Amino acid sequence: MTTPWALPDFDEHEAIHFFTDDQCGLRAIIAVHSTHLGPAAGGARFWHYAKDEEALVDALRLSRGMSYKNAMAGLPLGGGKAVILANEERSKSTDLLRAFGREVDKLGGRYITAEDVGMSVTDMIEVARTTKFVAGLPNSPGDVGGDPGPHTSLGVFLGIKAAVKWALGKDSLHGLHVALQGAGSVATGVALHACAEGARLSIADVDEAKARKLAERAGGSVVSPDAILSLEADVLSPCALGAILDETSIPELRVPIVAGGANNQLATPEDGQRLQARGILYAPDYVINAGGIINVCTEYLGDGDASLVRHRIEGIPVRLEQIWSEGAETGRDPALVADAMAQRLIGRA
Ligand code: NAD
Repeated sequence: MTTPWALPDFDEHEAIHFFTDDQCGLRAIIAVHSTHLGPAAGGARFWHYAKDEEALVDALRLSRGMSYKNAMAGLPLGGGKAVILANEERSKSTDLLRAFGREVDKLGGRYITAEDVGMSVTDMIEVARTTKFVAGLPNSPGDVGGDPGPHTSLGVFLGIKAAVKWALGKDSLHGLHVALQGAGSVATGVALHACAEGARLSIADVDEAKARKLAERAGGSVVSPDAILSLEADVLSPCALGAILDETSIPELRVPIVAGGANNQLATPEDGQRLQARGILYAPDYVINAGGIINVCTEYLGDGDASLVRHRIEGIPVRLEQIWSEGAETGRDPALVADAMAQRLIGRA
């Protein structure tokens, strides 16, 4: 494997930990990007990687993203991420999850884990048997905790409203057409909020049954996954995978606004400039999709209730307006402005 220092995604990460446990088949990496603002927080991803180096690159990129996301959400947290390398011959067993928890525990609170792709609330219960440095656990009604998805959706919806106000001068989504890529956890909440405000929805998912179910529940039409990125609409809300905005897709867009919950939507930093050159307003992903980590952070720190979570999520549109405003003054695209703001906040300007 190439040394971490030689990788382009290495960004002065404070620490990179590699763990193995032959008995249960655990192979994991925990990357701590920054603890400047507090303990490094970010979910654990359970994923099959074709090459070990891909897992390391994922950990490096995702942990830096968490530093930026947590800083821009005003949370007293740094950024970190864990990746657990799935093994076709060994399942995600209770032993493996507990062994992972023990490794998290050895870091003494420098890294706090939670769910990410491939890890569920049930998995986190097992992780929590061997470490207290974990969030995203089930909550009792009225308490903060549980699935971060609905909180992410709320932040994305408020971010879309802010973008509509900024770019179209409208106070409501009433009568506007929102194109949703994805019909999963985040997209579902966005669809329900948008439809409650009178938006018209077009929904695409590679799992067509999911798109159909959401379209029936929220009201809207199903569109093929190939067509969603070039649909004429007021807002494109990517809520599926990353790297969907690139030199091929951006010229095809027929929307004035891109604002959605998916992580890492821009394939390259140049794609932020490409959107700007086409006059499309972009809501930087790690700013608009911070609702889930806001909920996780409030659960972990135990420093507030559901109304504080809501109040913190309402800060997302305020932060977006600061970014667009600085972009308008400096001529820089919103993604670049957001990165520079985040770097200032974590002392890396
Ligand atoms: P999910 O797995 O519930 O939903 C994702 C959906 O996207 C699935 O239904 C999948 O079939 C669909 N999909 C995959 N590829 C597609 C394509 N090419 N076209 C259309 N649909 C496609 O995941 P989620 O929790 O809703 O997360 C969605 C995105 O938001 C991810 O990028 C995730 O990293 C990001 N995100 C989620 C949270 C959260 O709290 N869940 C927080 C921050 C960011």
